[in-house]
Formats: sequence, C-alpha cells, structure tokens
Amino acid sequence: MDEFALIRKYFAAAPCAQAGEGVALGIGDDCALLTLPPGEQLAISTDTLVAGVHFPDLCDPFLLGQRALAVSASDLAAMGATPLAFTLALTLPTVDADWLQAFAQGLDLMAQRCSLRLVGGDTTRGPLSLTMTVFGRVPAGLALTRGGAQVGDLLCVGGLLGEGAGALPLVLNQRTAEASITEALLARYWSPQPQLALGLALRGRATAALDISDGLLADCGHIAAASNVRLVIEQDALPLSAALLAFLGLEAAREAALSGGDDYVLAFTMPESQLAGLRAAGSSVHVIGRVEAGQGVCLVDADGTDVTPLARGYQHFQDIQ
Ligand code: ADP
Ligand code: MG
Repeated sequence: MDEFALIRKYFAAAPCAQAGEGVALGIGDDCALLTLPPGEQLAISTDTLVAGVHFPDLCDPFLLGQRALAVSASDLAAMGATPLAFTLALTLPTVDADWLQAFAQGLDLMAQRCSLRLVGGDTTRGPLSLTMTVFGRVPAGLALTRGGAQVGDLLCVGGLLGEGAGALPLVLNQRTAEASITEALLARYWSPQPQLALGLALRGRATAALDISDGLLADCGHIAAASNVRLVIEQDALPLSAALLAFLGLEAAREAALSGGDDYVLAFTMPESQLAGLRAAGSSVHVIGRVEAGQGVCLVDADGTDVTPLARGYQHFQDIQ
C-alpha cells in the first residue's frame, strides 16, 4: 500500500476526518483551513509520543490512538478552549494493516468524544512515533494561562490524582493486582478523560490553570513560577481513589499523586467566592491548598509542618545543562 492509499483508507475516510463546524477544508490539500468566530483566538498545542519512551513498543494500538489524542486534548481543556481540530504526524516502521486499523479506531473514538476533527498530518517511515497538534478556540482574553494566580486564591484539582503513574507497573506487566483494581487503573492510564467541560466552566472563574502531566508538585511549580506566588498543598486533601490506595498503600499512592505523571486532571487557582458556582455548574472540584505570597510549592501535613519531598516528577533531558 502506498502512502496516499494508507492516508485515504485509515485517516481521510475516518468519521472524525469529515468536514464540520469550524473546518472549511480538511484532509487532502496542502493546508487545512479553519474558520474562527469573530473575537475568538486559536489555541494550539503539540505533543510527541515516542515508542519505548512514552509508551511500550508493543502496546495495544487501539488504546494508543485513544490515549495519544486524549493527552493532547487535555491541553485544550487546560486553556479553557473549545476543541476544533487536530493533525497527526505518524512515523511507522512498517505498514501493518491490523495495527493501523486498530490505531485509527481508537483515535476516532477519542476524537468523537472530544469533538475534534482530523484535518491533516504527515506519514513517514521510521521508528514508531506520533505527533499530534490540537487546535481549539477561545474568546479573546478568556484563555486560562498559568500566570494569573492571586494570593488568597484556592488551589484546586478537577479529579483523582496518582492513578496514571500508579497504573504504570500494570501497564508494563511488572506487577499484578486483583481484577477490579487492574481494570480501574488501566482504564485511567489508557483512556484519560480530558476535562474539557471543566475547562470551559473555568473560563472567567479560574485565575490560572494547567493539566497535570508531570506530577502535581512539578506542575504546580509552573503555576507558582508563572504567577510569582507560592502554592501550599495540604497532604491530607489529595484526592486518592480506593483502587489506588488498595494497590499501593497510602504512602506510595501519595507519592504517585505528587510526583508521578500522566493524570491529565486540571489543577487551577480560583477565588473562594467562585467555588459554589463552579460546583453548582456540575464540576467535581477538590480543594487541595491555597495561594500565598512567596515562591515555589510546598506540601504541608495536618499540623502545617513542611513535608515537601525532594523528587519532582519526570523531566526529559534533566541531565542536560
Ligand atoms: P504534502 O506533501 O503537501 O505535505 P502529504 O502528501 O504529506 O502532503 O499529505 C497529503 C494530505 O494528507 C495532506 O492534506 C495531509 O495533511 C494529509 N495527511 C498526511 N498524513 C496524514 C495522517 N497521518 N493523518 C491525516 N492526514 C494526513
Ligand atoms: Mg507532507
């Protein structure tokens, strides 16, 4: 199968690649054309996933397609953007029809769930890797950046923490657990649910936001730095699932929540006065701390003692000066 037949069969023909709202021209020309309503800005984010680094070489292609797009869509949620479209740059070692079919199905499922249309991409030969670029729209001035946290705000997260990292030993077949735990944790790892509705509800309410991809401490550090404030996190307020606690125990579950990655839950700061309205709008919100004057991130126990661990999440190139 040549490159063009492959693109047509697996991608251009997918339901998520058909024209629709905001997409004036999709796959097939030199560029896609997107139309923005007046007064809206384009939110753009790119993520690359490399086999052996970001996912196991031999993982299920359906789950990979699903997860790769969810991870990218989560960045739109974190900006308070409405999903519009995405592109896919795919590098494949060989053309394996079964693999492509399953990958395209997983991708399509997540694309439809997130209302994202596939509008283009690139297909090349080489070691397996995927690059997704997502496009969203947001009214000018309403995007949720990392830079607006105010002293006195609450620090909140939109869901349970630690399951993405906690699931890794199961993903890598290094450990086993009883079926209900395995099922719950693997579902969170392979099918993260980008918090798009929460992102929209946070427009005009949150002062800063991001999605947690590298662990709560590391990511809150980004808000602290961009906003020039100090974030104080209460250890006992971390929302941990029963499955994670049963699998890892309290200590390691906390560590997964604080320093593990892959949760794709939103973390945000917000004046306390916004909390009731946000909850009334149907969002699940966990208050985990507060914004103070100062710098950095600190974890406190029930007595207010600083118990901040040294490890700070996963960083590529951390040895490079
Ligand atoms: P060009 O040479 O102009 O860059 P390509 O031959 O790479 O175009 O691709 C032809 C068309 O197919 C383009 O519209 C491109 O966006 C699209 N495309 C290529 N690969 C993919 C893919 N993996 N998924 C979706 N669209 C793709
Ligand atoms: Mg090309």
